[in-house]
Amino acid sequence: MIWQASPVFRIRRPAKDLRAASGKSIDIIEIKFKNKNLIMPHPSFLDEIEKYSGVTVAQCYQCYRCTNGCPVARDMDIVPHRVIAYIIKGEREKVLSSKALWTCLQCITCSVRCPNGIDIARVIETARRLSIESGLAARRDTRFFDGLMIDSVERHGRLYELGTIMRYRLSKKEFFKDAALGLDMIRRGRIGLAPHNIRDRKTLRAIIREIREGTGK
Ligand code: SF4
Ligand code: SF4
Repeated sequence: MIWQASPVFRIRRPAKDLRAASGKSIDIIEIKFKNKNLIMPHPSFLDEIEKYSGVTVAQCYQCYRCTNGCPVARDMDIVPHRVIAYIIKGEREKVLSSKALWTCLQCITCSVRCPNGIDIARVIETARRLSIESGLAARRDTRFFDGLMIDSVERHGRLYELGTIMRYRLSKKEFFKDAALGLDMIRRGRIGLAPHNIRDRKTLRAIIREIREGTGK
């Protein structure tokens, strides 16, 4: 739906603050100026991200330094500088349902490399929380796997790789998938057969519980 605000301003879908008038929200505002279409930020999504992350995202000038330094950019469906661009453009659903949010390792390389001081890792972490809250994360298998990993850390104090992978495969009914690779990794000593629990698991569980209660997840 194209919402006509004036002969100059054209809005693809009515803005949040105009919701009362139309009952719908927008992804992008398009401004027509001198016969050119200018894409403007979605006011509510950009505000939402900046408010919850405390990071001024709109300063990005798309230099790609974040993406160039990201160790997992090749596995992402939306690379870091594009995540930032989509946030500025207001592509809420695209960002919050992306695989990239759950591929990110939170290594903060991108944040350190950004010449504008934009903490991209923090932005991604904020987007993850919004993704869970909005229910969009549920579409992602990576989010499910992420939950299993946190569960494992909560139980053992560190990740028990074999147990986590087995739980994942069983839940998918993929009983023998990657079995040969797993056996090879055990033989080479890359993953252990049994979990290695830390001593003070009680404190760690209390920390995780506190975080969950703080975020409501
Ligand atoms: S490094 Fe910073 S300024 Fe450059 S594209 Fe990434 S977020 Fe934008
Ligand atoms: S924090 Fe995430 S997005 Fe940034 S460089 Fe590390 S893996 Fe890539």
